[in-house]
Amino acid sequence: MRALVYHAIQDFRIEEIEKPACPPEGLLLKVKACGLCGGDVRTYFGGHKSVTPPWIIGHEIAGIVEEVGDQTKGFHKGDRLAVAPVVYCGKCPFCLQGKYYLCQNVKEIAQHWPGGFAEFMAIPEEALKLGNVNVIPEGLSFEEAAISEPPSSCLNAQDRAQVGMGDSVVIIGAGPVGCFHCEIARIRGALKIVMVDLLNERLKLAERFSPDLLLESSDSGYLKKINDETQGLGADVVIVACSSTKAQQDALEIARNGGRVIFFGGLPPGKSSSSLDANLLHYKNLQIFGAYSFSPQHHRLSLKLISKRKIDAKKYIT
Ligand SMILES: [Zn+2]
Ligand SMILES: [Zn+2]
Repeated sequence: MRALVYHAIQDFRIEEIEKPACPPEGLLLKVKACGLCGGDVRTYFGGHKSVTPPWIIGHEIAGIVEEVGDQTKGFHKGDRLAVAPVVYCGKCPFCLQGKYYLCQNVKEIAQHWPGGFAEFMAIPEEALKLGNVNVIPEGLSFEEAAISEPPSSCLNAQDRAQVGMGDSVVIIGAGPVGCFHCEIARIRGALKIVMVDLLNERLKLAERFSPDLLLESSDSGYLKKINDETQGLGADVVIVACSSTKAQQDALEIARNGGRVIFFGGLPPGKSSSSLDANLLHYKNLQIFGAYSFSPQHHRLSLKLISKRKIDAKKYIT
């Protein structure tokens, strides 16, 4: 089969390699679509701490079951599946509480097992038992289904911060993740959504998700504009959907008294210290949520929302 093999930084090659065997309790998947995520681009330019070349990456996967293991239950040849890469242990205290996204021993397809930039991939037994391998709803293309992974984390984040009816929501970072947050906040009942980005081109692309207002953060008056938009109160929720300490600092300014702030984007390794005004946190009674990963129910919900076009996956595909 053909695969895109990662050999070294900026050295990915399409090669003929051996087709993987079907695991006895797993599946062999014929890959039909695999998303190229920001993380993959980072691996291309800087490598990945959990991946040693030669290796196959690609973790936003959709495909058809080609072969079912002898002892695999519940799956059939020809099933159309969306595969999000996260595989939980099911045994740690967090998994036992159903908070899979906190799993201590989490593993990922494309890191612990070869990923989806190949014609075929083996889906391990663990991924079927405690992972995010779900049947693609009728009427959804493989490309659309492959996009179901990133919104899963956004759903978990907004769940935890209780984004809800009537909220004003400011999203800093208007990339795809910011746009998923915009669509999800709308589904959850947010009445005013402001998207902020440094780059005007990004804001132009975000326009199609119909936020109420788009603001350039390079404009020094942008904090004042948000303040005016929220009757001088600030936003109920601020989502930092980018890797920027400045955005994190601004978020505390933007949030109203009692507001919720979600730190959705991680910071680059070695540059992850951020100085925050602790008095804003204290006097405004703010809540900050760190948000990373998701549980299986979020992936299933993500697929449903995409199939109902509440999340318009086509708009993200380039
Ligand atoms: Zn991804
Ligand atoms: Zn666990």
